[in-house]
Amino acid sequence: MNPFTYSRQSAAAPAVAELAATPHAKLLGGGTNLVDLMKMGVETPERLIDINRLPLAAVEELPDGKGVRLGGLARNSEVAENALVKERYPVLAEAILAGASPQLRNRATTGGNLLQRTRCPYFYDPDFPACNKRNPGSGCGALHGFNRVHAILGHSEQCIATHPSDMCVALATLEAVVRVSGPKGDREMAFQDFHRLPGDTPQHETNLEPDELITAVDLPALPATVRSHYLKIRDRESYAFALVSVAAVLDVGPDGKIKTARIALGGVAHKPWRATQAEELLAGKSVGTEPFRAAANAALAEAKGFQYNTFKIELARRTIVRALNTVAGKV
Ligand code: SF4
Repeated sequence: MNPFTYSRQSAAAPAVAELAATPHAKLLGGGTNLVDLMKMGVETPERLIDINRLPLAAVEELPDGKGVRLGGLARNSEVAENALVKERYPVLAEAILAGASPQLRNRATTGGNLLQRTRCPYFYDPDFPACNKRNPGSGCGALHGFNRVHAILGHSEQCIATHPSDMCVALATLEAVVRVSGPKGDREMAFQDFHRLPGDTPQHETNLEPDELITAVDLPALPATVRSHYLKIRDRESYAFALVSVAAVLDVGPDGKIKTARIALGGVAHKPWRATQAEELLAGKSVGTEPFRAAANAALAEAKGFQYNTFKIELARRTIVRALNTVAGKV
């Protein structure tokens, strides 16, 4: 591990000021991904600014009394076990509990979950020469290498990595809002705009500026009639990243017709992938396997696999149908 200096802050403004003023500094929250990357020599910050004492760990109702705010430092386990989250956003609790291990969830934070990096094995090996994300312009080892866990949607010639988070897949369907603080002040971003597709610059994974801090993630209120489910398919049932995952949220009227559908996929793209064409196709339809199959086909219409991961296309279709049928069973 490269040598680094350490400091600790207890308020957001000085933390952001120190981050902006210190070259090659990183914020340290749970550290569950960053410290691993530092040990492997992928991340080499010269200063770690510990933000664990910032007052950003609460999970609380928004002033409207309906939505909920997750503090940027709220631990994943506390969010998943929070009564408001379990009652109003069960898909989020399910997604968090599908990820990592209890020990990691006790440590990992909301902000850190949004910022975790791909688990592409070529990215994690600094001795491997070709990785545009780690070393821009060096090529992509996965493109013609072992790409079983890689993207089938939204990829580019420069990078076919996937985003590893389960929590973020649920947040995509909840149309969350990310609140950030930086030296120029506070701002907010729609969750859909937070993560980026790789394009020609896979090293830039989010639209967060390097000197900004995630202070909170807001969850807007949902109608009481909404039902949801998170389904994760992986190589083993515990402590594994998704081959494919689906967050499905349906609002179904008393006539059995879908008022609104929200579907997001994990494990398939560089960012949590919102299947908007599938959602549009389902609006106004009755719940049932046939419309769900049509929606799954629409969601994967643009999918393109590589040598070892083409199986993910059909797997994603089936996972969507199964997730939607599970939601329909709760209506
Ligand atoms: Fe690097 Fe992305 Fe290619 Fe993996 S897929 S080797 S992270 S450029």
